[in-house]
Amino acid sequence: MPHDAGSDELAAAVAATTGSGRRSSERSSERSSDRTRAAGPVHATPAAGGTPLEVLRRVWGYDEFRGDQARIIDTVVSGGDALVLMPTGGGKSLCYQVPALVREGTGVVVSPLIALMQDQVDALSALGVRAGFLNSTQQPWQRREVEDAYLAGELDLLYLAPERLAVPDTVDLLGRGTVALFAIDEAHCVSQWGHDFRPDYLRLSMLHERWPDVPRIALTATATAVTHREIAQRLQLEDAEHFVASFDRPNIQYRIVPKDNPRSQLLDLLRSEHAGDSGIVYCLSRASVEQTAEHLVGQGIDAMPYHAGLDRAVRAHNQARFLREDGVVMVATIAFGMGIDKPDVRFVAHLDLPKSVEGYYQETGRAGRDGLPSTAWMAYGLADVVQQRRLIDTSEGDAAHRRRLTQHLDAMLALCETVTCRRVQLLNYFGQSGEPCGNCDTCLAPPTTWDGTVAAQKLLSTVVRMAQRGQRYGVGHVVDVLRGKTTARVTQLRHDELSTFGIGADLSDAEWRGVVRQLVAAELLGVDSEGYGTLELVEASGEVLRGERTVAMRKEPERARRRSSGSGSSGASGSKAAADLDGEALEVFERLRTWRAGAAKEQGVPAYVVFHDATLRDIVLRRPSSLDELGTVGGVGVTKLERYGDGVLAALAG
Ligand code: ADP
Ligand code: ZN
Repeated sequence: MPHDAGSDELAAAVAATTGSGRRSSERSSERSSDRTRAAGPVHATPAAGGTPLEVLRRVWGYDEFRGDQARIIDTVVSGGDALVLMPTGGGKSLCYQVPALVREGTGVVVSPLIALMQDQVDALSALGVRAGFLNSTQQPWQRREVEDAYLAGELDLLYLAPERLAVPDTVDLLGRGTVALFAIDEAHCVSQWGHDFRPDYLRLSMLHERWPDVPRIALTATATAVTHREIAQRLQLEDAEHFVASFDRPNIQYRIVPKDNPRSQLLDLLRSEHAGDSGIVYCLSRASVEQTAEHLVGQGIDAMPYHAGLDRAVRAHNQARFLREDGVVMVATIAFGMGIDKPDVRFVAHLDLPKSVEGYYQETGRAGRDGLPSTAWMAYGLADVVQQRRLIDTSEGDAAHRRRLTQHLDAMLALCETVTCRRVQLLNYFGQSGEPCGNCDTCLAPPTTWDGTVAAQKLLSTVVRMAQRGQRYGVGHVVDVLRGKTTARVTQLRHDELSTFGIGADLSDAEWRGVVRQLVAAELLGVDSEGYGTLELVEASGEVLRGERTVAMRKEPERARRRSSGSGSSGASGSKAAADLDGEALEVFERLRTWRAGAAKEQGVPAYVVFHDATLRDIVLRRPSSLDELGTVGGVGVTKLERYGDGVLAALAG
């Protein structure tokens, strides 16, 4: 691809004008000052051209390809189609970005994530890659600028919303330029059974018919075999090479704790392990999102709410702050997240049970894209099981639909109650195998099991005795009776006369709640669906009562034993990214973060667009003393070295 000062200008202009409103004008003045600086003795190196490895090293500053990247890129560069299943953080973007720079023409990326296109283009521009996007948020004149750049052969990458391809003009436009490849991002959106279905994705098979010679690469982080088949079939990618990566995310530590006082448990996690870190807290309802966010703010944490009921502008503002600034905690419903490609989300916490393992994996997968240690933490209790079962009972749809929901929930509950490695269980769910990982709660502190058959019988027969009197009660009262507490209610109802009164004094309240939770999770005990939470027998309860079936139970870990061994977390920063840095190094890391925040603000881009945490860490560990040395740090490509090198060295000097 030809490259001269003119095309540089145009690239900057495209990147500058593709934004909307105020931001775009701020942006164009910043870009021009960038250019003035770049016009010095060091001349900008063209991003395009060369072998894939050369491009990787020059543009991204990375040494090697990871996993299947090299093979995928070779396939696409040589004109073949590819279907890529890779977990979040696996490095999917390079699989089409590198070929787009190597092949003649523009790489066209179809993505449903309109809100993120600006950031994606900004991130590419920061690398010296010429990128633009076309979507419905733009003014006609902004679109025309991008179209002109495309036609002039001045774009390396062009992002499109799928609905743009329904417009004949767009297809016509693409036909008048040179398409290097089509990348279909978030390809699971073509699946009608998934929750992210986009009708416009069904149309994408036309790309193949219209451009039979242009390679296509479809990518997704959704791993189930059903989705895999559907993507291949609906996008006519049966003949493509399929690349299925391991779905393991080794840097994420999975933990599921019994819910006790969830807000204080959460606060404990944030303070002891994630001070100053970015993270997401998922809640089921809008109300609990708002209350939790408020509570965290009251405790001095920089938290914000996000749910579909909030004003659009508020949502956009909160999302932008989360993406742009360091250390913001987003409290959200699952409306928040698809395609959040912020690399330094250090934790994802669930205060409510997700509906399925797929959902859980997708949500937790937003942590640690940059490969640094991250936490997936969840508090889970009886109320979650009850609530989810009730949601299913009252859901619309036929019996088959409810059965499917129940299967999803059961798999999720099995994950919560497992006494073996959580990671192995997750991988098995996606049809992959693994070894006990040593980095999940069940590996780190193996829970013990006990034979809960007798306890289950005691509990079930108490429920039976009450039912014989025509009464039903919730867990609190039933446990009081078992433990032999003479509460006012017990006396009033004369439940101290039940033959099971006091026969469960050997277990604590928490242990009994654990018994109830596990029985409900295993569907050996029912909870009424009218919302009173009263316990009732189900068919399978009889098998336990009659001794036809034994019940293995997970021992409830003692409360507050889970506090981590505090790897330097007593200091000013309990941040996970810097967890293994000692005092002085930590100081330098913080200095670099402060410098980065300033640089990001000045340029109106997210902090991670300047440099990732992983790169800052490497800089701290290597302490480069010259631009040349700095250029050898992973993540410092030619363009960034030129733009930020002096700033970094100055920040290092203190
Ligand atoms: P995905 O889209 O699969 O979630 P990304 O493309 O966002 O993943 O990549 C995840 C992170 O890994 C990014 O920070 C990216 O810069 C980094 N990365 C990708 N490939 C490499 C590589 N070969 N070497 C070093 N870092 C890489
Ligand atoms: Zn494990």
